[in-house]
Amino acid sequence: MQNLILKVILCLHIFTSAVLYTKTSAQSAKQTVKNYQETPEKVNDLVHTKLDVKFDYGKKYLYGKEWVTVKPHFYATDSLRLDARGMDIHKVALLKNGKLLPLSFACNNSNIEIKLDKVYKNTETYTVFIDYTAKPDELKNGKKNEKGLYFINPDGINKDKPIQIWTEGETENSSVWFPTIDKPNQKTTQEISITVPSKYITLSNGRLATQTMNTDGTRTDTWKMELPHPPYLFMMAVGDFKIYKDSWRGKEVSYYLEPQYAPFAKDIFGETPDAIAFFSRTLGVDYPWNKYSQIVVRDYVSGAMENTTAVIFGESMQGNKKELADRYYSTGIAHELFHQWFGDYVTAESWSNLTLNESLAVLGELLWLEYKYGKDAADAHNFEGIEGYLNNPDSWGKDLVRFNYADRQEVFDGVTYQKGGAILYMLRNNLGEAAFNKGLQRYLTENAYKPVEVHQLRLAFEEVSGKDLNWFFNQWFFGAGHPDLHISYKWDDSIHTETIYLQQEQPGRPFVLPVAIDIYTGGKKERYNIQIKEKLDSLTLKLPVKPDLINVDADKTLVLKKTDAKTMDEYTFQYFHAPLYLDRYEALEAAIKNQHEKRSHDIIQSALNDKFYSIRIKAINALGLFNEKEITQSIPVLKELVVNDKNNLVKAAAITVLGKLKKTENTGLFKQSLNTV
Ligand SMILES: [Zn+2]
Repeated sequence: MQNLILKVILCLHIFTSAVLYTKTSAQSAKQTVKNYQETPEKVNDLVHTKLDVKFDYGKKYLYGKEWVTVKPHFYATDSLRLDARGMDIHKVALLKNGKLLPLSFACNNSNIEIKLDKVYKNTETYTVFIDYTAKPDELKNGKKNEKGLYFINPDGINKDKPIQIWTEGETENSSVWFPTIDKPNQKTTQEISITVPSKYITLSNGRLATQTMNTDGTRTDTWKMELPHPPYLFMMAVGDFKIYKDSWRGKEVSYYLEPQYAPFAKDIFGETPDAIAFFSRTLGVDYPWNKYSQIVVRDYVSGAMENTTAVIFGESMQGNKKELADRYYSTGIAHELFHQWFGDYVTAESWSNLTLNESLAVLGELLWLEYKYGKDAADAHNFEGIEGYLNNPDSWGKDLVRFNYADRQEVFDGVTYQKGGAILYMLRNNLGEAAFNKGLQRYLTENAYKPVEVHQLRLAFEEVSGKDLNWFFNQWFFGAGHPDLHISYKWDDSIHTETIYLQQEQPGRPFVLPVAIDIYTGGKKERYNIQIKEKLDSLTLKLPVKPDLINVDADKTLVLKKTDAKTMDEYTFQYFHAPLYLDRYEALEAAIKNQHEKRSHDIIQSALNDKFYSIRIKAINALGLFNEKEITQSIPVLKELVVNDKNNLVKAAAITVLGKLKKTENTGLFKQSLNTV
């Protein structure tokens, strides 16, 4: 080992080409546009990446050998630039007729410039061999969470923490542990041989092809990905894990957990095969890879990562039966799984187009919740996301497709995730589920294993639905902000007309919005579909009697801030007659704001027994805001919830409110509920 380090040659001495590092005038011109992020130019295309790696736990080094097969993208070239961050490069050679032909190269802290033996055309592939040492903990100018490769408790000093190694490639951090063209518009097949102490388990992308015991107490595991995917999705994990094997249509579905959590593998990840089946069915494209593994690691730098076929989760995903009982549902499994299609199979060509990965993954959460837990669960989750965006004014001015940013990490925000997911959820409502799903199928099949930009998604929806969607995409994907819609009503009793005023009060342009309006009159509901596009639009209807309720945005999928001039009578009618989660949520909100009104009492008492758990919790938590009489009247219901509610979060909320009453008669009830989980 020591010997190897001594052999490190200062690579800059081998090949110094001033030309390669000279900034061209074209590059300078591009820099005058503020922070414009162009899609990375493809000079060479990755074809295949073969790695052979082992680790020095003491130094936190990776010793790597790489055989990278490449071809010019279009124009002939005699050079290859690879991203290689903070590495020692020992040798670069061309693999020709089974022999290694040394190549001259120059490298700095970021990349290697390799001079090839000749000019290659794009019909020719070539394989370059690189012997290197990756030193992630010594990376210079590296930002937080950009180490790519992480050694956790490598010396084992912390007895409460397992010894682990894992990787995190997004955005462009895989090039800290192997030289590559570390851009999302590249795709490559992959083979990794990982040599580790034989007591450890390894996980990587694709199938475990071979396991070989070595004479020095180590074992070499070789993992193969025969289908191409981008370098940022390469992964490795090494440590003491127990594997639980499940399956979907004969494909391995496996869960890697620390040994003490292994008994709960099914409780944590058990819904995965059902989710794979559901997404395959919905998208009309079967899960495209040869296996699906999920692993939980320590000290992870993000919540989870959708590495192709081998997703990593942070430790918050682990839990025992009791801890998991307080988790009503997890959207993480659905999110990372949906990425296997959106992000891994079809990949955003640049971080500017990240919406194609992340907004779709959030949509995956919504589809899964709707299927598994009902429409209320999906609507509630979507609404939480929109609220998160609306409560952060800094995000209002940001386009969903963002070509201008200073740092790639900026794009990973509430606009790309929650607002983007809500925009797709709204589009699904506009197009109808069948056309929307067919559009996704077309997008996936036409762009399989390719990098994409947002127009390709638009074109797929347009081709399927026959509708022009430029207006929608320009407004929501290439534009920022949201409508601030004020809704008011005027009933004219003399001529029996109802006028609905829809005023957009946001600064700047008005939004074009298809709006569904339900009119409830005499026990009947009638739907009106209109499109508004001015700052002030109105709709006048002749009706036999004054309606009980006018429900604007009746599908509750519009991404907007809304102020509605409904009366409490109308909100009460809405709570009891309109069908959606948000209908009831809005009515409850109004009741909480207008506690003195008799109708508010009716809403809050019914909401305590609402069919959806988070409405029940909202009503329970709001009781404290009401007068003592309201709380006293609610005690029997709260006790009933503590005993019989199926949702632990509701029980906990009810216990909290009852606990504040400090009545000893409730002690028995509290003790009993502690033992019911
Ligand atoms: Zn994601």
